[in-house]
Amino acid sequence: MTIAEIAGRTLTQERRLVTAIPGPISQELQARKQSAVAAGVGVTLPVYVVAAGGGVLADADGNQLIDFGSGIAVTTVGNSAPAVVDAVTQQVAAFTHTCFMVTPYEGYVKVAEHLNRLTPGDHEKRTALFNSGAEAVENAVKIARAYTRRQAVVVFDHAYHGRTNLTMAMTAKNQPYKHGFGPFANEVYRVPTSYPFRDGETDGAAAAAHALDLINKQVGADNVAAVVIEPVHGEGGFVVPAPGFLGALQKWCTDNGAVFVADEVQTGFARTGALFACEHENVVPDLIVTAKGIAGGLPLSAVTGRAEIMDGPQSGGLGGTYGGNPLACAAALAVIDTIERENLVARARAIGETMLSRLGALAAADPRIGEVRGRGAMIAVELVKPGTTEPDADLTKRVAAAAHAQGLVVLTCGTYGNVLRFLPPLSMPDHLLDEGLDILAAVFAEVK
Ligand SMILES: *Cc1c(COP(=O)(O)O)cnc(C)c1O
Repeated sequence: MTIAEIAGRTLTQERRLVTAIPGPISQELQARKQSAVAAGVGVTLPVYVVAAGGGVLADADGNQLIDFGSGIAVTTVGNSAPAVVDAVTQQVAAFTHTCFMVTPYEGYVKVAEHLNRLTPGDHEKRTALFNSGAEAVENAVKIARAYTRRQAVVVFDHAYHGRTNLTMAMTAKNQPYKHGFGPFANEVYRVPTSYPFRDGETDGAAAAAHALDLINKQVGADNVAAVVIEPVHGEGGFVVPAPGFLGALQKWCTDNGAVFVADEVQTGFARTGALFACEHENVVPDLIVTAKGIAGGLPLSAVTGRAEIMDGPQSGGLGGTYGGNPLACAAALAVIDTIERENLVARARAIGETMLSRLGALAAADPRIGEVRGRGAMIAVELVKPGTTEPDADLTKRVAAAAHAQGLVVLTCGTYGNVLRFLPPLSMPDHLLDEGLDILAAVFAEVK
């Protein structure tokens, strides 16, 4: 099928398996991938996609899989969501690039206005646009350093902030993200996060006191430019900190002249059942970093925050050739409009309730599920040896593989590799969500 034929075809919202997963065409493509693409670029599930939308991915063999991954929390409004397709199609016909730093265009400014309006807090804000999550995190650090004239960056256990040099230093996990890639950027300090399932501390303020004591004693409050944290650790295992943890960190930053940065690259844009995950705790970050869900799959990221901090760096100090590309901005405007018009925040909450209740019932009957947790349409199960908190990464791999074989795309995560995470697009119809959860239940019954 040509791309035009695929685009003209309406995807049926059904799972359909016509070959083994992956099928013969995908296997052939995967063999070509192995001889053409660098081995460091890994693949979770080698089914080669030809079309996607609603809640399904269609592959080159004619299979249709239920998508519980959204390309890692990116296609929140759906793959090729009609409003995004229309907006990008119009933009691509008008102009594809000028470089905003050379001759600007309104789309970029509009995205900034929307982010300033939608992100937590009613203070005056500014936004700068970039391409990837990692690039935006790096820029948040640059901005915080320029504004505070300090250097230290505080990050947390189980953090994931990206794969560039500075963000590798900020990311916690060695394999596969850091191993062999040093030396890393300096002036990055790591302290314990709040992980109630593992540290047993359900009082967020107490957990924060421990982290803050280390910052005060080992880094020194006067040296801290920024404290950077994901409001729900994504890659690290969908770890939701104990209530009050984020607020205590934010207060410490305010009291000590440091910039509190929320990395909402994975949690932002309705994913957690709030437009931004900080809202669950009424935390107003000084800077908020967004990417993934922002533009329906077109590469775009942003740093948004207090005007006086954002305006710290000199003109020309921020930016990049492609940052805020017109196609990505057109997509983002359509995404934002879709989220607001279709009330996708409520949809994320409803998906979360369904997943929590179904997975909770599963956990009650299966001692290998140590915890079900998450917010909204960002839910995970942590798998352990029964009766302990000892991680079971091997079981996690086998459950994921069995789900894949049944045509359900699930992702794993977690510092110990023992977390299955579920991130369905918010465009997923209920019958596919239910079917996906049925498959998971069957897989847990089958995998010993
Ligand atoms: C994915 C992710 C990043 C990195 O984003 P890229 O676009 O892959 O560079 C940073 N922070 C968090 C929380 C993420 O989930």
